[in-house]
Amino acid sequence: MKYNSTTDKNIVVSASQAIAQGISTDGGLFVPQEIPQYSLSDIENLTKLDYVGRAKKILGDYLDDFTAEEIDECVTKAYTAEKFGSNDPSPLSYQKYGDIDMNILELWHGPTSAFKDMALQILPHLLTKSLKKTSSGKEAVILVATSGDTGKAALEGFKDVDGTKIMVFYPVDGVSPMQKRQMTTQEGSNVSVCAIRGNFDDAQTGVKKIFTNKELVAKLEEKNYIFSSANSINWGRLLPQIVYYFSAYSELVNDGKIKLGDKINIVVPTGNFGNILASYYAFRMGLPINKFICASNSNNVLTDFIATGTYDKNRSFYPTISPSMDILVSSNLERFLYHMTECDDKKVKEWMTQLKTKGAYTVDENVKEKITSLFAGGFCDDDSTTKTIGEFFNEYGYLCDTHTAVAVKVYKDYVEQTNDRTPVIIDSTASPYKFSSSVLKAIAKDDELPDDEFEMVELLNKKSNVSVPKPLAALKNKETRFTAVVDSDEMPQYVLKTLGVE
Ligand SMILES: *Cc1c(COP(=O)(O)O)cnc(C)c1O
Repeated sequence: MKYNSTTDKNIVVSASQAIAQGISTDGGLFVPQEIPQYSLSDIENLTKLDYVGRAKKILGDYLDDFTAEEIDECVTKAYTAEKFGSNDPSPLSYQKYGDIDMNILELWHGPTSAFKDMALQILPHLLTKSLKKTSSGKEAVILVATSGDTGKAALEGFKDVDGTKIMVFYPVDGVSPMQKRQMTTQEGSNVSVCAIRGNFDDAQTGVKKIFTNKELVAKLEEKNYIFSSANSINWGRLLPQIVYYFSAYSELVNDGKIKLGDKINIVVPTGNFGNILASYYAFRMGLPINKFICASNSNNVLTDFIATGTYDKNRSFYPTISPSMDILVSSNLERFLYHMTECDDKKVKEWMTQLKTKGAYTVDENVKEKITSLFAGGFCDDDSTTKTIGEFFNEYGYLCDTHTAVAVKVYKDYVEQTNDRTPVIIDSTASPYKFSSSVLKAIAKDDELPDDEFEMVELLNKKSNVSVPKPLAALKNKETRFTAVVDSDEMPQYVLKTLGVE
């Protein structure tokens, strides 16, 4: 199977090239030329496998220049019980909120307590194998822009991986104290972490600019380095996320919640549009999905896009209590538009150019209609997020983080407006302990709140009886290793300096 660039179909690469490069030379994103098709009996076969088995089947169908042994090695090394707490890295938790059934897909049982681990525990294996196939001997420099969770998950996935160096850029005031601590204390000999004066979009644009800076790329090539990406612009990030949608569906069937072939709804707290796009690929492969419900926080550019067909990032940016979704340029929407226009690379290029030059574009009426028939969008501000966490916990006994609460509230609104009771999967994307302060505020009294992050963790544990993820508890006694702060236009110099290249 080959991959094309979203903005130039004449660019054709293999799976391993797509993963090794991360982004196409023309600035477009790699998309599969064909989408594997699963019948109901294929899905029935998946229900009989464990997570590792499901992942091997799905990854194998997309990565046809990997051998079965290679896929096997990648998957079994990534999804261990040691790293994810059990053989099911993404357990479902069946909850009720009033009379609404909430089947919560907990995607945060990995080493960094956010759903990013689901892809970033396997990406280093996929990437090092891809590099061996495509650019023998080169050392990969992984550049990551993060709104908080990707950075830590990527650092943890790539630390001390031979043949790689990883650099993470985060907005200096745009991450939670726990997220910051997770990153600045990162161990490993090949890692570095740098704060950016600006927001996530500035960091992301900075990284994209480095990738497409021909002079810089050439300079590094001379020193035997090649850039790659661990952001969800990399196909190797997106592909592993398809697996948990098939896996969750299989578990719903196995648990008798649905019958094979029944349709489900999917609710995703969305930022860069990666996670929800993975569910769309699952749908295109044959997973019976009725509606995709795209949940945003106050940075509701996607809610407006789904409602109107106009994407307009010229608006206020709000730092919220769900910071991993504080994004105004959702990069993976580009892939979605490519598929929604039947692979019209010229259209996608035109819209992406308008986004760069004017900050806005409007899709054609037929594309808009297609999107609204499949997608519903909704958003939830910080006050409702807090109220939702409080109510879900106090009245119905389930503790969730701020991002998950956005999804829960948007879904609740959706059901109340539509009365669509199709069985649902709601993605839960982070452990509540990653955002202890905001979560505590929702369930405790103001005068109870401690100042210290780790005292908050203790209090949250005492109130909720939900156990604290071990790696988060261990951060308390770790030393800070990284303190650099730079402007986003200084990022190229930071990269050169860190690599010792002049
Ligand atoms: C990254 C992240 C999101 C957003 O996911 P996208 O794939 O970027 O849409 C939501 N919640 C949490 C906790 C995250 O870390």
